[in-house]
Amino acid sequence: MALKTFRRGVHPPASKFTKNVPLEDFPVPDKVYISLSQHIGAPAKPIVNVGDYVFEGQKVGEAGGFVSAPVFSSVSGTVKRIVKLPTAIGQMVDHIEIENDFKYEKSYLPKLENPTKEEILARVKDAGIVGMGGATFPTHVKLSPKDPVDTLIINGAECEPYITCDYRLFVEHAHDVVEGTKLLMKALGVEKGYIAIENNKPEAIKIMQEAANGGVEIVPLKTKYPQGAEKQIIYAVTKRVVPAGGLPAQVGCVVSNTHTAYSVAKAVYEGEPLYRRAMTVSGDGVEKAGNYWVRGGIPFSFIYDTLRGEVPECMTNKVISGGPMMGFAQADLRPVTAKGSSSLLFLSHKLFSEVEPTQCINCGRCINHCPMKLLPRDFERAVVKKDFERAEKLGVMNCIECGSCAFVCPAKRPLVQAIRLAKKEIRSKGRK
Ligand code: SF4
Ligand code: SF4
Repeated sequence: MALKTFRRGVHPPASKFTKNVPLEDFPVPDKVYISLSQHIGAPAKPIVNVGDYVFEGQKVGEAGGFVSAPVFSSVSGTVKRIVKLPTAIGQMVDHIEIENDFKYEKSYLPKLENPTKEEILARVKDAGIVGMGGATFPTHVKLSPKDPVDTLIINGAECEPYITCDYRLFVEHAHDVVEGTKLLMKALGVEKGYIAIENNKPEAIKIMQEAANGGVEIVPLKTKYPQGAEKQIIYAVTKRVVPAGGLPAQVGCVVSNTHTAYSVAKAVYEGEPLYRRAMTVSGDGVEKAGNYWVRGGIPFSFIYDTLRGEVPECMTNKVISGGPMMGFAQADLRPVTAKGSSSLLFLSHKLFSEVEPTQCINCGRCINHCPMKLLPRDFERAVVKKDFERAEKLGVMNCIECGSCAFVCPAKRPLVQAIRLAKKEIRSKGRK
């Protein structure tokens, strides 16, 4: 039987070097810095004062609006100050500095047994659950779609190279992922929940097929990038096409991430708010690449110092938060771990060399591989001429910034940078 997939896309090397490294607890530093902006939407508002004692799991910032989420301390200790630090996407935001007393005294939410739809929705909101594949959209908003939905898809594609934390959740925590999926189905009122996994993870598919129950079905997908993009995974699983500029709910679907499902199960059945997550640290710039349970607020510099080992610092040419296709290159190591931190990559010149772009040779490869059927070459040309109106007319706002075009471009044109610039200009003019 043909494997389910979408049209076009690319095949970057998988580089899943940490696939067989079990999750282990990452050490915790003397101080953590809890970001008030760990999600899309309004930043959280601090609700603690300097000098307050806080518990692990205690709410330290409340949601700043409907599209927002509360944030929680990841250790027990004392609030020292509020400080501005860069996030992994380069924004300067407030962080609550907490001095760790290493006692790890917990303050969790009450456990729920057999919760109603309303209780699940309230818990997802109160526990600060957001999309953990990197998008960080507040999950309680996603669970309240305007259109009727009949299908939940759990995105287990993990199609970005290097990242293996969702894979480890499947292998080590299959039961929690299935239970979280069932809770999300109940919150949405749908009968069908699909957990979609690329076929380069046969062990995960087998374990999840054994664990699946209660309307949850495992769907093996063809291994191809960007299989985990929302519109592409909806098409692969259901053959439904989300219209340009539209939302998944318009075709009756909600897509959530594997880790999100896991965290929903923890929040409901164990009362654990979202303040820690599984994260892959990989690349040849660190000796101890692996999969780790990291608490929120750990500086990237601490992660590097802990895992670098004997590898000389000059080995690291690029540090990327997220995957190499869609992640964010880091200017320095001040950002800290947050709800969306799926991976941190330390890559040498061998693995990540920057090549100077040359003239476009009109080969059309960028167009032929674009999963959104767009015209990246023409977007870039419009941006070079500062003709953002033309870029908008050509459909630049429909770009999902997957990087497939740049990956196949033989001239190494900076296509995604041009696209991001065009979108920023268009948004700043309020045209979209
Ligand atoms: S134009 Fe956008 S959607 Fe198309 S390949 Fe490039 S980054 Fe991906
Ligand atoms: S792939 Fe690169 S060289 Fe080929 S048409 Fe697109 S931008 Fe030009």
